[in-house]
Amino acid sequence: MTTTIPEVAAAELITAGQTQLLVIDCPRCSCTHRHLAAGERRAPCGARYNLIDRNPTERTS
Ligand SMILES: [Zn+2]
Repeated sequence: MTTTIPEVAAAELITAGQTQLLVIDCPRCSCTHRHLAAGERRAPCGARYNLIDRNPTERTS
């Protein structure tokens, strides 16, 4: 069984001490969803997508 999971680019939303990944345009409901990590996610609306962080934050200080 092959399920195609769409890739969705995330926008980073940096709050105090935390980076959230924002899905601006959900492929299913066109709403905005927030996630805490990239990867295969399930949205509150039931959509599944592979969340891509275009600008991964590297904390190598
Ligand atoms: Zn949605």
